[in-house]
Amino acid sequence: MEAEPLNVFVKAPAKINLSLDVLYKRPDGYHEVDMVMTTIDLADRITLEDRADGRIHLVTNSGVIPQDARNLAWRAAELVRERFRVDRGVTITIAKEIPVAAGLAGGSSDAAAVLSGLNQLWKLGASLEELMELGKQLGSDVPFCLVRGTARATGRGECIEELPAMPPCWVVLAKPPISVSTADVYSDLDLAQITARPKTESLIASLARNDFHGVARQMRNVLEPFVFRKYPEVARLKEQMLRFSGEGVLMSGSGPTVYALFQQESRARRLLHGLKGFCKEVYMVRLLGKRPMST
Ligand code: ATP
Repeated sequence: MEAEPLNVFVKAPAKINLSLDVLYKRPDGYHEVDMVMTTIDLADRITLEDRADGRIHLVTNSGVIPQDARNLAWRAAELVRERFRVDRGVTITIAKEIPVAAGLAGGSSDAAAVLSGLNQLWKLGASLEELMELGKQLGSDVPFCLVRGTARATGRGECIEELPAMPPCWVVLAKPPISVSTADVYSDLDLAQITARPKTESLIASLARNDFHGVARQMRNVLEPFVFRKYPEVARLKEQMLRFSGEGVLMSGSGPTVYALFQQESRARRLLHGLKGFCKEVYMVRLLGKRPMST
């Protein structure tokens, strides 16, 4: 007889926004958004170990994220226990690689990884759709983090339509040493001041043509001017990155991380080295495709 697995390892990758548009404020207080996102190979690594005592325990190497029920990964485990009436517990170990409060959906991806990891660990047999339904109770970006790859996210971000994959490229990311709260950015937002919106349909047409430069030219994030006004160092970082690459540079989500896309590894590496001197948190990674069917 095959031994029951007592622990599961899951990768929780970050996302970047190829576009971000905010359409209007809804009566429920959320903003209606229209975003194109893609998954990158910058990931937290999560181990889930079964516990017989029915308790949730969380361990992390990060000094900045909560280790209790405020952690989204913890809340994901609680939700799975409730929904599927599981009486087992779990020790969640998070090796944090994704910068926190950076616009890269680190917390949402950890939550998504715990949902799919516990589905495996406890053999719950839940479908991706069921996990996405649970995920949206935890955060608007969690359903995307379950699907991964390249997708359009509408509603408050939880309605996912899969798109043709982003053409292969290198991603150089730089996070200035400030944390930006997504809630603060949205509450400061004056929709009447938005002038340059992304042309989301054209961006999607470029993806369908596998046209890297077409995508790079269409990348827009309507939150940039609001974040740049409050944190001019983010605007300066973007200008500097544009000087290296010429196109394909954008702030991800509500910032402050700015990334640049490159088809040529050598050009990406030049920017990486150029940034290293004065920005501590810089990364160079590849894109990551859709979640494999088995997970
Ligand atoms: P998004 O792009 O979805 O807005 P973000 O990348 O800007 O997300 P996160 O890294 O997810 O931001 O962190 C946002 C807040 O959530 C932080 O203040 C952090 O303390 C809290 N948080 C709770 N659980 C986690 C987790 N597992 N990883 C990171 N942050 C977490």
